[in-house]
Amino acid sequence: MINLEIPKKFKPLVSQGNQVAREVFRPISRKYDEAEHSYPKELDMLASLIDGMNDGSDMGGAGAAGVRRESNGGDEGNRNGSNLSTVLGIIELCWGDVGLLLSMPRQGLGNSAIASVATEEQLEKYGGKWAAMAITEPEAGSDSAAIRTTADLSGDEYVLNGEKIFVTSGDRADLIVVWATLDRNVGRAAIKSFIVERDNPGLKLDRLEHKLGIRASDTANFTLQNCRVPKEALLGNPEIDTKAGFGGAMQTFDNTRPLVAAMAVGVARASLEETRKRLEEAGVEIDYDKPALTQHAAAARYLEMESDYEAAHLLTLQAAWMADNSKPNSLQASMAKAKAGRTCVDVALGCVELCGSLGYSENHLLEKWARDAKILDIFEGTQQIQLLIVARQLLGKTSSELR
Ligand SMILES: Cc1cc2nc3c(=O)[nH]c(=O)nc-3n(C[C@H](O)[C@H](O)[C@H](O)COP(=O)(O)OP(=O)(O)OC[C@H]3O[C@@H](n4cnc5c(N)ncnc54)[C@H](O)[C@@H]3O)c2cc1C
Repeated sequence: MINLEIPKKFKPLVSQGNQVAREVFRPISRKYDEAEHSYPKELDMLASLIDGMNDGSDMGGAGAAGVRRESNGGDEGNRNGSNLSTVLGIIELCWGDVGLLLSMPRQGLGNSAIASVATEEQLEKYGGKWAAMAITEPEAGSDSAAIRTTADLSGDEYVLNGEKIFVTSGDRADLIVVWATLDRNVGRAAIKSFIVERDNPGLKLDRLEHKLGIRASDTANFTLQNCRVPKEALLGNPEIDTKAGFGGAMQTFDNTRPLVAAMAVGVARASLEETRKRLEEAGVEIDYDKPALTQHAAAARYLEMESDYEAAHLLTLQAAWMADNSKPNSLQASMAKAKAGRTCVDVALGCVELCGSLGYSENHLLEKWARDAKILDIFEGTQQIQLLIVARQLLGKTSSELR
C-alpha cells in the first residue's frame, strides 16, 4: 500500500530543494520574469552542483533520468524510487519559481522522453545533455496524432521536414526531441521521436514567443528543412507496429504528466502559504476544528482551496509512486495532471483575490504565480484532454469511440 508520508530517505532532498527554491530561485524570480528570454545565468552553478551529485535527477528537474521506468526486481514490497523523488523535488523548486525550474540546464521534458524510451546506447550517447521536446505544430496541438512533420529514410539517415511551435527550452537546449511520422497513411503507429542536435543546419529557429507567464523559460518555434539525422537518432523501436499504436509515445506522457502536476502543486502551495501569512497579519484566524461556514469568509475560502490542494498533492504522489512500483499509471497520471492543473489556476487566482491589491501588485509574487499557473493546465495535455483520457479509461472506450 502507498504510504502518504514523505519517505525518510527523501527528507534531505526535500529540504535541499526548499533551500534552493528559497535562496536561489525566489530572489531572482521577478528579475527573470521582467527580463523575458534572457538566460538566468545563476542556474549554471546550480546545474553543475546537481550534476556533481551521485544521482543528478534527485533534485527534481523537469526531466533527466528521474522518470525512467524501473523494475522493482520482483520484490513485492513498496518501492520509493526516482519518480517519487523527482516529483518531491519539483514541488519544492516550483514553490520557488516554475519558470526557473523549466530553465534548468539538462532537465528538459525531452530528457524525460529519452529516459523513457531510449536504448542503453542512446542513453550513453545523449546522457548529460539538455533536451527539449517538440511535438506541437500549427495544425496539431491536443491531437498529437495529427502531426505532419515527416521523417523519410534515406540511406543511413532520416530526413525531417515540418514545423514545430511552442518548444520549451527550444533555444537553449543541446538537443530537440522531434516527433515526426514515418508514414502519414498509417496513422499513430508511424509516429516516432528523433533526437536532433540543436546546431543541425536543417533546424531553423523562427522566433521566440512572448508569454503571459513562465517568462524566464524560452519558448521557441522551429522549421525543419531537409534536416538530416543518423538512423540511430530514432528513439525506441523503428518498426511500425500497428498493434502497439501510440503506446511508445504515450508512455512518455505517463511519466511526464505527474511532473507537470508536481509543478502545479508547488505553485499552488506557494500561493497558499503567502496568503495564509497575509490573512494572519490581517487578523483572520483559520481554525481546523470549526466548520468552515462558521468562520470568516476569507478563512472558509482558504480552507476550501487548501483541501483542493491536498487532493491534487496526493493524486500526484500516487501517480509517481505507481510508476516507481511498475504499476500502469495512465489513469492516475491524467487524474493528477487534471486535478493539479485546475487547482493551481483556481488557487493562484483565488489567493490574488483574497489578498486584494497586495495580491495584484507587482511588489509581491502572488500576481506572478497567478500568471505562471495557467500553462500548467495547458501543456503536456490540456485540462479537457486529461478529462477525456480519464473518461476513456473509466468507460473502457478507445480514442476513436470517445473524442
Ligand atoms: C508556454 C508553452 C510551452 C509549451 N511547451 C511545449 C513543448 O515543450 N513541447 C511541445 O510539443 N508543446 C509545447 N506546448 C504546446 C502545448 O502542449 C499545446 O499548446 C497544448 O497541447 C494545446 O494545444 P493547442 O494550443 O494547439 O490547443 P488546441 O488543441 O487547439 O485546443 C484548444 C482548446 O480546445 C480544447 N480541446 C481540444 N480538443 C478537445 C477535445 N477533443 N475535447 C474537448 N476539448 C478539446 C483544448 O483543451 C483547448 O482548451 C507549449 C505551449 C505553451 C503555451
